[in-house]
Amino acid sequence: DAIEKTEVEKKNTQDISAYQGVWVFAEQRDGKIMPVVMELLGEGKKLAKEIGTELCAVLCGHNVDFLADELFAHGAEKVYIADHGELNTYRTDAYTKVIYSAIEKYKPEIVLLGATHIGRDLGPCLAVKANTGLTADCTQLEIDPVGKYLKQTRPAFGGNLMATIVCKDHRPQMSTVRPGVMDKAQYDRSLKGEVVKLEVEFNDGDIRTKVIDIVKTVKNQVSLTDAEIIVSGGMGLGKPEGFELLQKLADKLGAMVGASRACVDAGWIDHSHQIGQTGTTVKPKIYFACGISGAIQHLAGMQNSDYIIAINTNEAAPILETADFGIVGDLYQVIPTIIEELDKL
Ligand code: FAD
Repeated sequence: DAIEKTEVEKKNTQDISAYQGVWVFAEQRDGKIMPVVMELLGEGKKLAKEIGTELCAVLCGHNVDFLADELFAHGAEKVYIADHGELNTYRTDAYTKVIYSAIEKYKPEIVLLGATHIGRDLGPCLAVKANTGLTADCTQLEIDPVGKYLKQTRPAFGGNLMATIVCKDHRPQMSTVRPGVMDKAQYDRSLKGEVVKLEVEFNDGDIRTKVIDIVKTVKNQVSLTDAEIIVSGGMGLGKPEGFELLQKLADKLGAMVGASRACVDAGWIDHSHQIGQTGTTVKPKIYFACGISGAIQHLAGMQNSDYIIAINTNEAAPILETADFGIVGDLYQVIPTIIEELDKL
């Protein structure tokens, strides 16, 4: 009872007007800033402009000061840096302690994190400590024109509807944002800002985990998220060997091969290739959808591609409504023709 009362009192007494600034968690690994951070800075800039506040980045690690310039160049006006040997590798306790202390001290109005493995772990821990809410896996953010609070939109009920969630009475308003959905901030090397060093001190028992070893998986190819061209296949391939034809086209174009979930479920291709709501979200320059019907869950992962080229035998397939170029035909005739034409170049 006593705990409940304290929580209620805390909730009722929060002065939300004391909270200002849009913060972006500048996730870095091995001294490289994750691409989603640039997307968060692009989106954060728009939000900050609408509520008339500043855009800040929060950077944690060891000897990472040099990364501040990259964050300024992508629009951050202020970079909070927590530098400590214990922050070299991500650990929940260490990062939560440092960033929560900064939230308490500087009171940001909005905190955005990428919906990466780290962001999905860190975000909820920070939200609990700050006694506020968190909307996970957002695909759209906007400021309410009247109330000036953050409207956070994410797919719900298996992607069948988009839910808009608000956090009116608590600050900060926190979201994790799906990578590959927002536009990246523009890069301008001449932009500069202010560095604020955060105090970092750990006591015995603060960090309950120890990293013994880091074993990296060997990646031969670029990830789907970074690919500029994706050749994706669906059940229209008819058989798993159909992906060999897609791989041929992909090799000609320097592209990656993607797939619909139905092909993954059928065991035709590994889940790492799956695009969509329960797979990877991509935003390549060109997306080939070959024998894919265009279910809403698939579209959720690729509809922001610059150009979508769909090949489908069924002229009523929903993918043809989303596609910029639609070819109504059998992919086993169309793709070899495209390969032949590319060979002539
Ligand atoms: P189909 O719907 O069977 O479409 C095959 C298409 O190929 C048809 O349009 C047909 O006209 C065409 N075709 C047939 N033969 C040829 C040919 N020779 N040449 C050219 N075209 C041909 N799906 C995803 O993709 N990604 C996800 O992340 C995902 N998440 C999901 C999450 C949930 C909670 C649920 C419920 C579903 C999810 N799905 C997802 C599944 C999704 O609803 C669809 O079932 C799936 O995308 C269909 O895959 P498909 O387009 O390959 O197959």
